[in-house]
Amino acid sequence: MRMVSDVAFYHFGLENMLGHKLSQMPAQALEDVQRFVLALNIDGCPLFKSTGLSAWPVLACVTNIKPRVIFPISIAVGVSKPKDLNFLVEAISDLDKALREGYVFNDKQFTVHLQCVICDAPAKAFVKCTKQYSGYYGCDKCCQKGFYIGRMTYPLISLFNMRTNTSFRNTSQPEHHKGLSPFTRLPIDMIEDFPIDYMHQVCLGVVKKLILRWIRGPIGDGRLSATQVSLISSNLQSLRPCIPREFARKPRKLEDIDRWKATELRQFLLYTGQFVLKDVLSHPYYNNFMVLSVAICILVSEEMAFNYRDYAHQLLQHFVSKCKDIYGREFLVYNVHSLVHLKKEVEKFGCLDKCAAWPFESYMQTLKRKVHCGQNPASQIVKRVLEENECKSEYSYKLNNQIYTKKPDNAYKIASGKYCEAVRRVTENSFMCRVYHSSEALFERPCDSRTLGFCMFNKHNYAMKTILRKDLVKRCLKFEMENQSVFLPLLHDFSQQNR
Ligand SMILES: [Zn+2]
Repeated sequence: MRMVSDVAFYHFGLENMLGHKLSQMPAQALEDVQRFVLALNIDGCPLFKSTGLSAWPVLACVTNIKPRVIFPISIAVGVSKPKDLNFLVEAISDLDKALREGYVFNDKQFTVHLQCVICDAPAKAFVKCTKQYSGYYGCDKCCQKGFYIGRMTYPLISLFNMRTNTSFRNTSQPEHHKGLSPFTRLPIDMIEDFPIDYMHQVCLGVVKKLILRWIRGPIGDGRLSATQVSLISSNLQSLRPCIPREFARKPRKLEDIDRWKATELRQFLLYTGQFVLKDVLSHPYYNNFMVLSVAICILVSEEMAFNYRDYAHQLLQHFVSKCKDIYGREFLVYNVHSLVHLKKEVEKFGCLDKCAAWPFESYMQTLKRKVHCGQNPASQIVKRVLEENECKSEYSYKLNNQIYTKKPDNAYKIASGKYCEAVRRVTENSFMCRVYHSSEALFERPCDSRTLGFCMFNKHNYAMKTILRKDLVKRCLKFEMENQSVFLPLLHDFSQQNR
């Protein structure tokens, strides 16, 4: 290790790491592959609460092969963030070479494509050498000048000029820039290839901001009483038995919000919020939350995002402008504003999970767990990564196509569009199921819930049928409420398991 940018630094090298990872893959994984599509992630990750020590790895993910491969190209570790961007120089040189010359593995030539660089907002501004989101020209997607009301806000929801690769590289709006980013050396789009990461900006950003507003905001003005907060908490906890194994965490109390992880905020936004807030949050606030929830449900779903993106965009514009009415114009901070730019990400990447930080976050948590406080944690990390390179059996195909017959894992959507619970295996490839009929809408605003596949049934409206394994196509959450059974197909990419 050596000192770069005033922090301890180690360069693993793109070629070297990619070679190690590919040699651990099952041979058939590369059979039809001609190119490697990379996503990059740069973010500071605190190593131990007690020491203030953080790691700044440059992580790469090969997104077009399965199982997904993630590895560090380099890593910087220090008590403060790197003082400049010199810690990126070698990773960017490696990328430059790979993008130009491609990559040879086992005598086969592959091309290399850099699809995106995923960062949270502060890290993105840092690596792009631009003003932070708290500055007047801090939006990385549009040129609108912020409006300062004790904090920077971005009030426009349409009719702004978008930044482009050309305008960025020409420094057309000098107030946006602080210097020359080393990324400009690469043949990439300096705007479109740095997507909005909905894990940070929507889940940890907007959803958490909303919840904090409800429980700790100004009295009146939509703030919940202590009784209402504990009612929501007990609603959340009552759903714990219904949460299937795809979720690493079960719902916990709203009072624990400061410790909620991004996955818990996603679970609340997509699946549980609509139930636990109903009849507790007053109408304008509940309806406003539902507009956000439905829009993001659409945009995370690989099946719906592209086709319904215009509708989701209208919902998000409506959400942001309503936020101004009900929470005040100081609510329209950068994260809330950036919702109106999400449609563009879906147009480029397909759905929000394709350009989000989940898999990187998960990789870093795994790495962190292997490092212990004490002597030289930086070199401990480097050693762990190098040891993993030598491990030959790291990857194995674990395609989980098991069908479960016990609650809460046995709710499925059937190929025919119906919903069922598998209750018993009949043969190797068929299951006895309770198949529900006569669906009702779970909610009707802002649209019929069945548009998202969210359906409600009278719990007696079912018939026992034998269903083939191949027809049990989609895992669902199933909630039971008095006389009703509610099915919610899982919309997010749950192969990106997160803790
Ligand atoms: Zn903007």
